Amino acid sequence: MCLKKTSLLFLFLSLLLLSAHLLSAQVLWAKHLSEEALVTPEAYTYLLLEEARKKPDPESLELIGKAIKVSPDDPAPYFELFDRTFSLHPQKFFHSLNYLFKGISAYTKSFWWFFNLTGILSGAVLTALVLIPIIIALSRLPLDIPLMAHEIEENTRAAGYLLVLLPSVLGPYYFLAAICFLSLMHLKGRPRYAGYLLLFVLIFTPLLSAYMKAYLSVSSSPEVKAAVAVNEGRSNVYATEVLRGKAEDPLRFSYALALQREGRLRAAAEEYRKLLNSGRDPRVYINLGNCYAGMRRLDKAIEMYNESIKIKPLPSAYYNLSMLAREKLDFVAGDRYFQQASDMDFDRIAQFRELRNDLKKLALMEETLSERELLSFALGWGMNNLKPLSVTGPLLLTVFSFLLIAVLFVTRESSSMASRCQKCGKLYCTACERRIPRVGMCTECFRSMISFESNPAERIDTIVKTHNYLKRRRRILSVLSFTVPGLTLFYGGRMFSGLFFSFMFLFSAAALVFSQIFTFNIQPYKHNWLTSLLFLMLVFFYLSGNLYAIRRLRKGWL
Ligand SMILES: [Zn+2]
Ligand SMILES: [Zn+2]
Repeated sequence: MCLKKTSLLFLFLSLLLLSAHLLSAQVLWAKHLSEEALVTPEAYTYLLLEEARKKPDPESLELIGKAIKVSPDDPAPYFELFDRTFSLHPQKFFHSLNYLFKGISAYTKSFWWFFNLTGILSGAVLTALVLIPIIIALSRLPLDIPLMAHEIEENTRAAGYLLVLLPSVLGPYYFLAAICFLSLMHLKGRPRYAGYLLLFVLIFTPLLSAYMKAYLSVSSSPEVKAAVAVNEGRSNVYATEVLRGKAEDPLRFSYALALQREGRLRAAAEEYRKLLNSGRDPRVYINLGNCYAGMRRLDKAIEMYNESIKIKPLPSAYYNLSMLAREKLDFVAGDRYFQQASDMDFDRIAQFRELRNDLKKLALMEETLSERELLSFALGWGMNNLKPLSVTGPLLLTVFSFLLIAVLFVTRESSSMASRCQKCGKLYCTACERRIPRVGMCTECFRSMISFESNPAERIDTIVKTHNYLKRRRRILSVLSFTVPGLTLFYGGRMFSGLFFSFMFLFSAAALVFSQIFTFNIQPYKHNWLTSLLFLMLVFFYLSGNLYAIRRLRKGWL
């Protein structure tokens, strides 16, 4: 590409980025929070951010900084800071970009942001995989149905291929696989491999849709919501109501933790003791020790910490031991335990001490469930009704897809397939033309090409026919090249590039829509950075996919 074109493209893209940014700056804000919500860090962060929006610059940045301190694992304040500091000035630009990256990396530490992201991505992949077979069928079947009709006319046994449509009664994915198979049956050579690839990838659609179901049910599950709120230190009130008497260990652990934080130490200790019957987890011992310490049963607490160290030494156990030793005025042991704790995880100890600097009260470290544990629990919770052996499940569809791939492979050089003449569009097969030239055209066109002795009127007739056929085809292709990228390429038999462009385009479009919808439990915030990025991707793949097709069309390669 020449310099001028490149700079124009760059200018265009930066204008797009700017407009997308301006659009995204209008965050949807909820009206007002109820009174009791004001005590949670989540609500406090929200109020700080809302306050920051009303204030002029230096003051608002300070408020956002405060919000980050209150909930450092929440992506929202970082995004707010990015919005506030965004500028095209080169130095400031990278500075604000840094906040954007911090916000994005906070996704891994914040359950709901991350969970929503997985929903957006898998939903978009599923949508693209469902739409691609439909697009291929729309572009290929108008060409291939006449070929099939010709084959059936010559030999009724050819109608047997239509039997692949029968399993469609079992579910929509069987139908998608079947129309893929029918639309790819007449391709030869390399494009046929795209068919194998597509049929193989379709195997994953039942899994993706099972994930989507699980994602949606978890997103609206009060139990998971309450457990996450407790373990992320955001709210306990909800959990003490919702999680009472649950059977699953992570939910019981979260319930006990909520009780403990609400000061109901006796009930919390009871729950922890019950949990120890189903498995020895050092974290349960530590939290139980904290309950005892809160009830001033210091010796019992020390016993619990030591018990946890026997299973797996955690820095929190040593830290709490050091606190209790100091409480009992044994400063030597206190210092030794403290040293052990900070040797194990200095950052965590330092962060904890900074947040809990009111040293008048006995501040003990507690253990929570990790983001990964919560995530795998939530998915297990949502996926527990997935039946791999059912007809809509992944197993049977896998068998069906591999069967179709095998048939495609076996028939790859079948001579009974009808062909279309590349010159005049006439259909022919081995049954109606005895000697088929191997250059992809009918005998008539081939003869007029090689023999100059044939009748001039006949030759002109062929040339006119050829001209009209190619003109019509080119017109269809150029109209198609303004629709979904890849459609033109499928029509022209370029399957691999068609798959690439249509997938990228459909994926971006679907993810763009989902990024605005899938904001469960993170409202009023939205994934605005993702929406902007996807919008750029959407425009990029629309333009590049269609320009790619148009250029090939001009050069006569389609
Ligand atoms: Zn012909
Ligand atoms: Zn024929």
